[in-house]
Amino acid sequence: MSENPALLSEIKQLIKSAGPMPVWRYMELCLMHPRHGYYVSRDPLGREGDFITAPEVSQMFGELLGLWAASVWKAIGSPPLLRLIEIGPGRGTLMADAIRALRVVPPLHHALSIHLVEVSPVLRQKQKEALLTSRSIAWHNDIDEVPDGPSVIFANEYFDVLPIHQAVKGSDGWHERTVEFDGSGELVFGIAPQPIPHFEVLLPALVRAAPLGAVFEWRPDAEIMKIASRVRDQEGAALIIDYGHLRSDVGDTFQAIANHSFADPLKNAGEADVTAHVDFQALARATEDLGARVHGPVQQGEFLKRLGIETRAQTLMAKATPEVAEDIASALQRLVGGGRGGMGQMFKVLGVTEPNLTTLAGFAAETADGHSETP
Ligand code: SAH
Repeated sequence: MSENPALLSEIKQLIKSAGPMPVWRYMELCLMHPRHGYYVSRDPLGREGDFITAPEVSQMFGELLGLWAASVWKAIGSPPLLRLIEIGPGRGTLMADAIRALRVVPPLHHALSIHLVEVSPVLRQKQKEALLTSRSIAWHNDIDEVPDGPSVIFANEYFDVLPIHQAVKGSDGWHERTVEFDGSGELVFGIAPQPIPHFEVLLPALVRAAPLGAVFEWRPDAEIMKIASRVRDQEGAALIIDYGHLRSDVGDTFQAIANHSFADPLKNAGEADVTAHVDFQALARATEDLGARVHGPVQQGEFLKRLGIETRAQTLMAKATPEVAEDIASALQRLVGGGRGGMGQMFKVLGVTEPNLTTLAGFAAETADGHSETP
């Protein structure tokens, strides 16, 4: 693993002229630099790539999400047009599997208008190839460009690539964490000399009580606000799936992944996927502040089981050769299982709808007193 020399020298140049850069700016350049960014210059997904996502593990994932979209469509009165929107669609696998599954609901299949929000030209090309047979597809750079109308929105492993800010707790307050370079020209972390003004009052109590040296990470609310305000004002629902934590807390989760293993985020600029865990409490809070309804978050394993993934796996296995049946069983385990390599507990699912949609497939029903009921 090595860094991209052109990107590294540009980052150093920027630090030389403007001083240490905040972690979020470094992360943004690594991922989305217009020429050398990790996502701009390659397809990182799949077995030969750097990491595998749930839709790449098994077709069952996208199929179940397609059927989930059908349940939302029915719940909102089966409108004649449904915009199926995916943010950060990768290779287009989830969308292709979802659309195929929806052939069993012809009126909805006819009602679909597909919208992919993607900034990477390489991945847009992959998505075109994956979705050749589908009509009515449009690409956008931002979800705000998608025309009005009822929608179902998917975002799988999208929020983790959005740049994070990091702050480090000092005796005089919280300081923004930065990236700079040392005497030998290596990139290293630093902290801004002045504390961030009035930072502490904005923090959840658990975080405020953290010891000196603790790191707190956050993302701007802009993306979740666009999603939440869309489903609040226009019918439909959004599903956000990612790895992360249920409660806002301290901890440094800034990491790089290359060739399916962890790497140093400061050593592989532009050549590794740099991500950070998603703070689901922060997403839920921003959603509720806007007056939209939050469902969950629940663990991915629980969510997929409620949507019937085990039955679906059995159906597929019954028709398969023994080797393929074994692959299906291990894919199922990977998607719903816990422990090492299992996505079932590490990944969480958050649903967002307008305030009056009280039940949503895959999430526990809410009782009259507002508490969740486990079915
Ligand atoms: N959802 C896919 C891919 C996850 S990788 C899957 O599960 O396989 C992250 C995706 O988000 C990629 O498609 C990447 O190009 C896209 N992406 C990253 N930043 C983005 C941004 N700011 N706007 C739109 N898409 C973005």
